[in-house]
This record gives sequence, C-alpha cells and structure tokens, in this order.
Amino acid sequence: MTFRNKLSIRANLTLLAAVCLTPAMIGAAGLLAYHYQRQRAQLVSDTVNDVHALKSSLNTELAAAQNTLEVLATSPSLKNQDFSAFHAQAALALGYSAINNIALIAPGGQQMVNTAIPFGQPLPKTGVAAMADRIFATRQPEVSGLISGALLKQPVVSVAVPVRSGQSVTYVLSGVVLPTNFQKVISNANLPSDRIVVIFDKGGMVAGRSHEPERFLSKSVAPGLAERLKLVNDGVFEVVSLEGIPVLSIFSRSQTTGWGAAIGIPTEVLTADLRRSMWYLAIAAVLLLGLGFGMAWLMGGRISNAIHKLIQPALELSQGKAVSVSGMGFKEAVALGKAIEQSSEVLATTSNALKTSESRLRSILQSATDAIITVDDQQQVVLFNASACNMFGCTAEEALGRPITDFIPQRFHQQHFAYLEENRAPAEGPEVFGVTGASTGLRSSGGEFPLEISYSNVLAPDGVFHTFIVRDITKRLQSLKALEQSNLDLQQFAYVASHDLKTPLRSISGFVQILERNYADKLDEKALSLIQRTAQAASRLEQLTENMLSFARLSSDPQPLEPVNTFEVVQEVIHLLDAVIQSTGATVTTGDLPTVVADRSQLVQLFLNLVGNGLKYCKGHAPLVHVSAEMKGNEWIFSIVDNGIGIEEKHHQKIFEIFKRLHSQSEYPGTGIGLAMCRRIVERHGGKISVQSTFGHGSTFIVSLPTKLGALL
Ligand code: ADP
Repeated sequence: MTFRNKLSIRANLTLLAAVCLTPAMIGAAGLLAYHYQRQRAQLVSDTVNDVHALKSSLNTELAAAQNTLEVLATSPSLKNQDFSAFHAQAALALGYSAINNIALIAPGGQQMVNTAIPFGQPLPKTGVAAMADRIFATRQPEVSGLISGALLKQPVVSVAVPVRSGQSVTYVLSGVVLPTNFQKVISNANLPSDRIVVIFDKGGMVAGRSHEPERFLSKSVAPGLAERLKLVNDGVFEVVSLEGIPVLSIFSRSQTTGWGAAIGIPTEVLTADLRRSMWYLAIAAVLLLGLGFGMAWLMGGRISNAIHKLIQPALELSQGKAVSVSGMGFKEAVALGKAIEQSSEVLATTSNALKTSESRLRSILQSATDAIITVDDQQQVVLFNASACNMFGCTAEEALGRPITDFIPQRFHQQHFAYLEENRAPAEGPEVFGVTGASTGLRSSGGEFPLEISYSNVLAPDGVFHTFIVRDITKRLQSLKALEQSNLDLQQFAYVASHDLKTPLRSISGFVQILERNYADKLDEKALSLIQRTAQAASRLEQLTENMLSFARLSSDPQPLEPVNTFEVVQEVIHLLDAVIQSTGATVTTGDLPTVVADRSQLVQLFLNLVGNGLKYCKGHAPLVHVSAEMKGNEWIFSIVDNGIGIEEKHHQKIFEIFKRLHSQSEYPGTGIGLAMCRRIVERHGGKISVQSTFGHGSTFIVSLPTKLGALL
C-alpha cells in the first residue's frame, strides 16, 4: 500500500486544492515579477530622461552666464578702456542673468573691474588666475569647477570668456555663479520629493542637491558615483547615497563642461510597489488556499460521511443480510447505496436458489445408490455420501479428512496412484470424466470387496478434486461366476449329449436302413413312408448333433493360434463344397487374402458356413460368391458377397443367434447353428461379424479380425 492510498479523502482533496492553486499562485507571482521589471525599466527610462533634462537645464544656466559675458566682452567700453562705463554696463547686465558679480581680469591676474566692489576702489588679484591664464593662452571660454569665492567667502562657480582685440586676448571676463542657481534648476525640475537629485561639477563635487544641500555642498559625490564618473559619462547603477540610503542612481554629465546631474531613486521607493503587490498576492493566496482547503474539508467530510455510512451495509451485504441504505449526502453515494440494496436483493434471491439447488444436490448425493467419494489433491476425503458410509462401514464424520488410501488395501495403493497419474487432467486441458475401472475396497472392519469405479477430476478455483463413484460388485461377480459355471456345465452337457447321441443315432439310422433294405417287400406303403421319414429325421438329428458338437467344441477344445493363410483356407472350403458347387453350377471367387493369426480349423468352419450359406440361400439362378479382404486401421475386413435371396433388415441381428432360422426345413434345410458358430469364432478371435443386405438382392457378410496378435481366445 502506498503512502497516498493511506491518506483520507479530506487530505486528498486538500492536496488537490493545493495542487490546483499553487500553479495559479506561481503564475501570479511570475506576472508580478514581470510587471515589476517593466515598471522598474519604465522608471529608469523616465529618470534617464529626467537626468538629461536636468543636465540640459544646468547647461542652459551655465551657457546663459557665458552668453552674457560674451556679449559684455564685445563692449566698446573695453576697447576704449573706459572701465568705469564698463563697470556700470556690467552691473546692469547682472540684472538679466544668473551671474552674481562680474570681474575683468588683466593678463597677470590683476582685477580691473569687479561689480561686487564699487568702481575706483583698489581690487585684489583674481582668485581664478590659473583659469584666466589658460584663457589668455587658449582664447577659449571656460567654466570652472566649484571653487571657494575669495570675495564671497562661499563656494562659487566661475564662468570666464576671453575679451578679444583682433587676434589677441586683452582681458578675461569672469562671472561668478552661485550654487543657489543650481538649487533652482533642481527645484524647477519638479521631481518627486523622494528622489535624491545631485548636480555635480567637473571634479565630481556636489554643486546642488535636493536633500540637505548645505550639508553636502562642495563635498565629493557618493564614492561609488565618483568612481563611475571617472570611467563613463552616463550610467545606471546601485549605490549608497551620501546620507547612507541605498539608491538606484541614474547619472549623466556634459562632455563639454564636465558638469552633470544624478538622480537617485531610493531602493525602498523602487520596490515599494512590488512589495505592496506581493503583500496583496500573499493575502489573496492565503485567502484562496483557506477557501480551497475549507471547501476540501467540507466536501471531503461529506464524501467520507457517505462512505462511512456505506461500510455497514456493505458488511451486512457480505453476511447475506437484507440491506437498506439511506441519508446519503450526494448523488453518486445515493446511486451506490441503491446498487448495494439491489445487490442485496439479488444476493438474497441467488442465495435462496443456491440453497435450494444445494439441498437438491445434497439429497441426490445422499440418495445415490452408488458410493460417491471426493478427495482433494492431497488425497484427503472431502465428500463421503450415505452409500459410501454403508459400503465402507463408517460414518461421514469418520471418513472426512482421512486419506483415501484408508479405504484401499495396502497392496493396491501403488496401483491407485498410478491410475490417478495416468488419468490426471493436463494443467490447462479438459477435466477428466467417467474413466471406469475395477479395484478392491477396504471396509472399516478390514474386509475387502471388489468394486467398480467411475473416476472424474475437476479443476475447481480452490484446486483439483477427484471424485470416485464406487459400486460394490461382489454380487455381480458372484452371479457372473455362477453364470460362467452354468455355461460351462451347459457346454459340457451339450458336448456330452451331442457326443453321446451320435452313436445311438447312427445305430437308429443303420437299423432303419436295414429295415428298409430287408423288409421293403413285406411292408405296405404307409410303413415304408414312415420308415423313410424316420430315416430322414434320424439323419437330420445326426446333422444337428454334429453341428452342436462342433459348436460346443469351440469352447471346450481351443487350439493354439498360428499364422493362417486365409487364401488357402478359402481354397480348402471351395474344395469341401465342390459337390454343391458342381450341382448348382455356382462360382466362388476370391480376391487377395491375407495371412492372419488364428485357429486354423475354426477359420475353415467360419468360411465353410459363410460360403456354404451363400451357395445355399440362392434361388432361380446359379449362385455367385466372392471372398475378399482389405486392411482398415489395425483390422482385416473380410467380405463374403453372394447374389442370393438376401435378408430383410429386421433379421440382420437375429440370424446370428443360435437355432434362429428364417426358412422352413423343406424350403432350405439347416440347423440354425452356422451363423451362431461364426459369431462365436469371430468373437473368440477379437473380431466382429455383421451382415449388409437388401432383401432379394444378395447379402454381404462382413468379418473383421484384428491384425495384431494377442488377447485372443
Ligand atoms: P442354417 O443352418 O439355417 O443355414 P445359419 O445359422 O447358417 O443356419 O443361418 C441362419 C439363417 O440365416 C438361415 O436360416 C437363413 O435364413 C439366413 N441366412 C444365412 N445365410 C444367408 C445368406 N447368405 N443369404 C440369405 N439368408 C441367409
């Protein structure tokens, strides 16, 4: 029994619910994950756009400052070296740009004008001398990183452009942009408040920040970002922000200024949706599973209740009781209950019929005049009927379970088992029925008796059973013996009588002949006729005794068997019948005739009778007799065919009985012993004799003799 089979219906249904719901859950989780990935990708893509927008706002801011300075650089005041006018002009321009103050720097770094200081007051050397020198050399505008403003005492950005005069650079015009401008760029971007937005300079310093700008201004960006910025200008990666929040950072920097922006989406924010959905899913899963398990529990309970209700009726059914089933919870159980009820009804009817048939069978068995004994394959008695009890002198209780050999004398045990083995039905073959045989039984008292057995064996579902129908043949054997004795006596008597009658009969014939010969002239006609009739009767009596003697001799005087050439036998017979053949003008022919093992003199008698009858029972034409033989199986079939008067079918059996004749003595003389003798001879040789004939159209006598030697006479 497997583990699964041991689970209750409830457990099985719960398992089923779990198995059905789990794939749905897994599918939903998969969908969520897919959805999350898409959402995240969308967010990243949106943020990349935001970063680019931020970067371009930043660039615009710086470019605007640069444009203002470049316009101022072309001022005629500078050509005329009218610095006072330029101071006023520059101060005016501040109002239209994001620049905080503008300085004009002469080669060597001396400030000529600074809008942060009233014109005419002495000015220090510029704080961006190195950048100014580069611009004098390269003649290209430049944006500094975040530097420490010498005048403003705070981090600032310097945007500087060359003031050209022909091919040479005469001054450098520098404008200071304060980080507050970057804060504005950040706030103008209108990004969600949870995003950590950073604007960084070309050196990777924080120039603006959405969260705690004061704290992190001019500090290096988060270490992870700083490293990336050394390698690439754009990217998306996970990093920990300066304040220690894990974020997904999306950054981009300008190739020209080296300035850029980064937006950090806190991982918390990124996964918040997913976590929320997962929670919903988990709650839905718990609810669904709970619902599924609850339903499984309820339904399982109903099914199991119904099954439990059916157990008792099923048990009662097995005990053959009348069953009634009610209160089933569902359709199938009701149907099953009905089926059980119907089965119980059928069972009741069948069992009644079975009981009736069983009691009928039992009474047949018990009332049988033959003993019926059945044994199992271990040869132990399982059935012993009343006649068996009478025959063997014990009760059925005493006999049951005992070995069958208890009822057979010891010296026949071997023979019994050999007999069973010989008649054993093949494993898958037909059962054996009605094999008869003779044996000897052993009564409980120890006495033995002859018996005749009819044996059969049957292959029942619970094994092979052997049944012996036994008949006590003590009385039959006694009668048979008595009959045989009386037959012997009769034969002896017939033999003695016919033998002893021969001499007086011959004397009677002789005396009658003398009487006729010597006293014919002294006797009248009537006396002579009487003498003649006496002579005829004596001669017939003589023939009768002769035939009876021959018949009696068949049993009392058996001769040894020897190979006999039947052709020679028939030739001898033809010779013996020569006178008749001549007088009737008959023809006797033969086919090929075999040599058989037989008593020669008896074969001569056989053919003499059959051929003789063929010649005798013929009327109106010359007799024709043909003797032939053919081999069929292991027999020689002799046919003696004549063209005589034929025999009506109703007499075909009768004519083989002794003294049975179909004609009067005057019609066809005879004794009625010939065919009886033929039958006796043929049977003593293990053969058979019969006749085929159509009345008026001749007869065919058929004699079959076994070709094999043995079991004869
Ligand atoms: P029987 O001495 O009368 O010939 P059988 O025993 O030989 O005695 O024959 C019995 C009877 O069978 C005969 O009386 C005869 O009627 C009939 N029978 C025997 N052989 C033939 C035959 N070949 N054709 C016709 N009838 C026959």
